[in-house]
Amino acid sequence: MRIAVLTSGGDSAGMNAAVRAVVKQAIVRGCETYIVREGYEGLVRGNLEANDNGTANGANNDQSGVCTPPRPEDQGVEANLRFGYGGLLRDGEGDSTDPTSGKSLKGRYIVRVGWDDVRGWMGEGGTIIGTARCAAFRTIEGRTTAAHNLIKEGINALVVCGGDGSLTGADKLRAEWPQLVADLLSKGSITAEQAEMYKHLMIVGLVGSIDNDMAMTDLTIGAPTALHRICESMDNISSTASSHSRAFVIEVMGRYCGWLALMAGVSGGADFVFIPECPPTADSWEDEMCAVIKRHREMGKRKTMVIVAEGAHDKNLNPIKPDKVKDILRERLSLDTRVTTLGHTQRGGRPCAYDRVLPTLQGVEAVNALLESTPETPSYMIGIHENKISRVPLVEAVQQTQAVATAISNKDFATATRLRDPEFKEAFDGFLTVSSLDPVYILPKEKHLRIAIMHIGAPAGGMNAATRAAARYCLAHGHTPLAVQNGFTGLMDDAIYPLTWLKVDSWMTRGGSELGTNRNVPGEDIGNIASHLQKHDIDGLFMIGGFEAFEALLELEEGRKYYPQLHIPLVHLPATLSNNVPVTEFSLGSDTSLNALVDACDAIRQSASASRNRVFVVETQGGMCGYLATMGALATGAVIVYTPEVGMNLHMLRSDSKFLQRRYELDEKGKAEGRLVIKSEKASNVFSVDVITKILREEGGKLFDARYASLGHTLQGGIPSPIDRARAVRLSLKCMAFIEEHAWALRDQPAKGRKPNPKSAAVITITGSSVNLTPVKEMVEHADMKNRRGVDPWWADYKQLAEILGSKNYFAGKLGQ
Ligand code: ADP
Repeated sequence: MRIAVLTSGGDSAGMNAAVRAVVKQAIVRGCETYIVREGYEGLVRGNLEANDNGTANGANNDQSGVCTPPRPEDQGVEANLRFGYGGLLRDGEGDSTDPTSGKSLKGRYIVRVGWDDVRGWMGEGGTIIGTARCAAFRTIEGRTTAAHNLIKEGINALVVCGGDGSLTGADKLRAEWPQLVADLLSKGSITAEQAEMYKHLMIVGLVGSIDNDMAMTDLTIGAPTALHRICESMDNISSTASSHSRAFVIEVMGRYCGWLALMAGVSGGADFVFIPECPPTADSWEDEMCAVIKRHREMGKRKTMVIVAEGAHDKNLNPIKPDKVKDILRERLSLDTRVTTLGHTQRGGRPCAYDRVLPTLQGVEAVNALLESTPETPSYMIGIHENKISRVPLVEAVQQTQAVATAISNKDFATATRLRDPEFKEAFDGFLTVSSLDPVYILPKEKHLRIAIMHIGAPAGGMNAATRAAARYCLAHGHTPLAVQNGFTGLMDDAIYPLTWLKVDSWMTRGGSELGTNRNVPGEDIGNIASHLQKHDIDGLFMIGGFEAFEALLELEEGRKYYPQLHIPLVHLPATLSNNVPVTEFSLGSDTSLNALVDACDAIRQSASASRNRVFVVETQGGMCGYLATMGALATGAVIVYTPEVGMNLHMLRSDSKFLQRRYELDEKGKAEGRLVIKSEKASNVFSVDVITKILREEGGKLFDARYASLGHTLQGGIPSPIDRARAVRLSLKCMAFIEEHAWALRDQPAKGRKPNPKSAAVITITGSSVNLTPVKEMVEHADMKNRRGVDPWWADYKQLAEILGSKNYFAGKLGQ
């Protein structure tokens, strides 16, 4: 197959990672790869320059438009390595030349690319290959020209990365393709042979959009980075707002979709959000907003933050604009109010970890989908659903996306909300719970509970956000949230105090552990712990932490046999950067740490690249679990990753150093690059980073140098990532509802001989997009207790994928190592 990839519509972070993955995977699968510059505009313009000797890209696109098979010298590993167009794309077209033919590339929009052209693209924002809005492509004439250009280049498969408009265009092109080919033939633009050869065009769509507005996928490429940018701005505004006791009205992008605004509201701890899908229900949105903010101010809050989505409106579809909100806050509540429009800052910048991993996995899947497609299969859009990369029919996804817009214009907000991804409504309800002080949620007195919250293990991003959400939920329902300081030690020292609404207000954005944490588990103190739970009249215990919290829960559950005080609901919310708690796919803190790792590796790679031929061996934390190292390798484009699950040996090191030698030999002179090797701290006790580095340095000889960096505790990250914060809120609220349910059920039993439901000692787990409270007993069979990790982790195969994309396996295989 000859696969071309283009980016279209609004740019978004992660598009480059998608293009990189498509190019690399296509080469790995034996295809020829092309990029189309400037989106559909490039497809319509095509390659204007005639070249009578055949072009460097292997396809002879002479004036007659007859395509001949690629030249043999353009095939094979070394040819696939570099076609040398990377410079062209970065430096502008004016002074660029095709390195093979030496001809100017001006006016060429469909260009062959090789493996090395896309190196270093992972960390770049926007789209390097360019995007444009193309009016011509909306016309049949434009699409006919585009078809002609594709056929001239011999391209029979296309990956389009863009928003719903771009994917609609892609679908049109595929649907019309037979007609376009017939027209070109009848006009004599192509030969009968070409018409036969190119009678089918395979298309796959990747959703690149900061708005997260596409149906049938949980996330779009670029949306998580945009959320990062928004939350960074909110965090910055927050301190000045607090200093001056100001109100800020923040307008965020999202077109007709409120996802960014809603998630920013949840993760940034806003007071009020206006989103198109869930407009204020009161007749006067002004009254509704002012009532909420007045209560917050009366409680003692010094700052106010209101988020307004770009497409916000009231329930009658009258637009709600930030300036109007500002005027209302000023006039009615006398608040010193400022408007901040974040604008294009939301689009730009380095992609966050998620926007590197997701497009990489989706790009790989796009190529696989193309290779498996037949003329009968529909065009697919690659999405993500239940933490699994999915293929969905492109037409259906586009139609369903348009259905949301129709529902909103019909004022059918319930349908619009339902058609968004399943978490949308939950996130909105969660936002109301944690931000509201409305007494309507207070339950009757007999339902009130005393719930203890503690942190166990090492600090992890999102622990405080989870505590805040739990405390706010309790207060909204009339319960008493009790903070236990320093885990079980604190409980036994009676270091317990009630949390207030205001006390936890700023905890959303704080890293570390506000409650204090340590690794102690009950052990022999279990009786003492049970009696202290009774002493403080605790109806439910909420433990936020890592593998130690899981062990503690197991012990407490076991202890129920002897201590009736432990019959209360006991819940564990996994929070650890190692992501080593069994069953659950994500623990709080794992996203923050992955981002910290990506940030550090970007800086290290820059330094490594500045001194050219340098290999950096980076050591990560993670205990006996290789999650962070593996996902880090995938997110940073590391060439080798060592994990505790796979381990290390001499043979591996030998073949890896050989691979690196070969790789550096193949680098074009003067164009070598820094490369990363990631080692999980416990991958080997013998081969420490120091030893590995020395071996590589020795073996590298004149070809490359080696250095190492140990990231240590920096990986705990500073401010928790928006994904960890939002996840903390979502999971924490579910844990609270679970504690309520089981505590009330226990109360309903006769006082004598109360028996706890065995399911009431549980860990909240994410498997796919389903969140479950898994009984701790069931967790054990999925746990490797000795190595303190889960068995059969879902990410295990990504080690190989990272190394394939890092070229190790590909070249190792081809070069017979
Ligand atoms: P996005 O892809 O981000 O939604 P646009 O809606 O601007 O952005 O679409 C990008 C490009 O996709 C347009 O400039 C146009 O070339 C093409 N396109 C959009 N809608 C259609 C359509 N209905 N038919 C053909 N091409 C379309």
